[in-house]
Amino acid sequence: MHGLMQDWPLVCSRIIDYAGRQFPAREVVDRSIEGPIRRTNYGQIRIRALKVAQGLAREGFKPGDRIGTLAWNSSRHLEAWYGIMGMGGVYHTLNPRLFPDQIAWIMNHAEDAALFADITFMPIVEKVAPLVKSLRKVIVLTDAAHMPETKLDNVVSYEEWLGGLDGDYTWYDSAEADASGMCYTSGTTGDPKGVVYSHRSNVLHALIAAQVDALGLGSREVVLPVVPMFHANAWSIAHSAPMVGSKLVMPGARMDGEAIYELLDTEKVTLSAAVPTVWLMLLQYLEETGKKLPHLRKVVIGGSACPRSMTQKFRDNYDVDVIHAWGMTEMSPLGSLGSLKPQMADLTGDALLDLKEKQGYAPFGVEMKITDDDNRELTWDGKTFGRLKVRGPAVAKAYYGGAGTDQFDDEGWFDTGDVAHIDADGYMQITDRAKDVIKSGGEWISTIDLENLAVGHPDVAEAAVIGVVHPKWDERPLLVIVRKPGREPSKEELLAYMEGKVAKWWMPDDVVFVEEIPHTATGKIQKITLREQFKDYRFPTA
Ligand code: AMP
Repeated sequence: MHGLMQDWPLVCSRIIDYAGRQFPAREVVDRSIEGPIRRTNYGQIRIRALKVAQGLAREGFKPGDRIGTLAWNSSRHLEAWYGIMGMGGVYHTLNPRLFPDQIAWIMNHAEDAALFADITFMPIVEKVAPLVKSLRKVIVLTDAAHMPETKLDNVVSYEEWLGGLDGDYTWYDSAEADASGMCYTSGTTGDPKGVVYSHRSNVLHALIAAQVDALGLGSREVVLPVVPMFHANAWSIAHSAPMVGSKLVMPGARMDGEAIYELLDTEKVTLSAAVPTVWLMLLQYLEETGKKLPHLRKVVIGGSACPRSMTQKFRDNYDVDVIHAWGMTEMSPLGSLGSLKPQMADLTGDALLDLKEKQGYAPFGVEMKITDDDNRELTWDGKTFGRLKVRGPAVAKAYYGGAGTDQFDDEGWFDTGDVAHIDADGYMQITDRAKDVIKSGGEWISTIDLENLAVGHPDVAEAAVIGVVHPKWDERPLLVIVRKPGREPSKEELLAYMEGKVAKWWMPDDVVFVEEIPHTATGKIQKITLREQFKDYRFPTA
């Protein structure tokens, strides 16, 4: 027997239609790339997205065409996304922090037909566009007055282009299984791999993300996604905020402490999301200026492990609740969030910080398990760690073009490449990337645990741990430290600080000081480069 409910495809145009009808005046504010703060609203964004769709269709772009975006978080970028999806196209976000050759490789692989780009990125576009054979048009997200000079053909300013359109357009009738968006993973080895979102996965993921115990969005919230739209859908916020009518505040090109503080303060932001590096800059700015955060209630921190000291500072100095989250481009991206279950509601002090150091539990729509190398499932005891595998309606089932098939199994489990343990309450903690875990005498040592600990020392700006060959133990941990400006902690001081806080056999065998630790385009520590840098290093005791 079939249910007798309506077929109402879960397509993304419904999100912006809903926002435009129920919350037309709800503001979307951004720091424009040209400089000033700009204000618009969901009603306007919907109309302009219709124009984008109309313009693309009129110029012969077809449903299924991949349309690149090389842009900061802004209202124009948001309009472009909904316009692209609304004509049946596939927004393809490009990470400007990659090298132009890598961007060209990715665009060629996806066969991008057009590109929306910010003025900041025109030097990249000049290099990349001639290398991408499929590219027919570049639309620069600015007005005629700010249009940069270019030698490229088929380039137009966004506002001039929109000016010739009336928005009298009916959204393309996409099926919910059709592709809506695309994002390549920043794999540290091999070629980048394309993740292809569907309308259905985007809508379901946004519904999941908005829940109280996930991001906790709602129409009275004011949300600042610092996390870029080019990094895994801005953690769903580009979809989930309009879906519930949250006011959106977008940082544009500036993510320094002062710029973020200004938006948090003047727009009365209640909720924000970003990687730890951004929060480090903000906390430093607040410490220097003595400013407070009276409106901010909650920050979601993920992308890399959130250090315990960060959670503590936000709580003790600014009365802001940290939600530690974990996810991946392949998961749309949210995979777990550290909200408190009822049995944890009364936790305080160190016990609360212990829990917040974990990456949290899976929301509805994400199934998780941990396995050993023979795919045997491991227990949820909060200690035993193994390969983390996931499945769900917003988790990838393949990469574009059939790459990376070994990461997917017949039962639909996706091997995340992360190593984790899960406790009896369902809270998961990432201990490493499978490639980074240190194998010492047949046992595993978590580099993330050691890094989190070291970075809690007041003189440490950043810490990384890598495994270095050892004649007796195979590998032993080497701690690499960037000191805070003007501070000179010694190796002995740092080791003494860590002593007793981790198992004795986990303690680093040595500490080295560097000016800088290399990072990937998404801000993660680039362990491959670091291991390469220290490949000739030998422990003094070995
Ligand atoms: P990306 O697809 O670029 O978002 O990278 C996903 C990877 O980032 C995951 O597989 C993890 O290795 C790492 N990651 C994301 N969030 C966290 C977190 N909260 N703690 C530790 N690692 C994280």
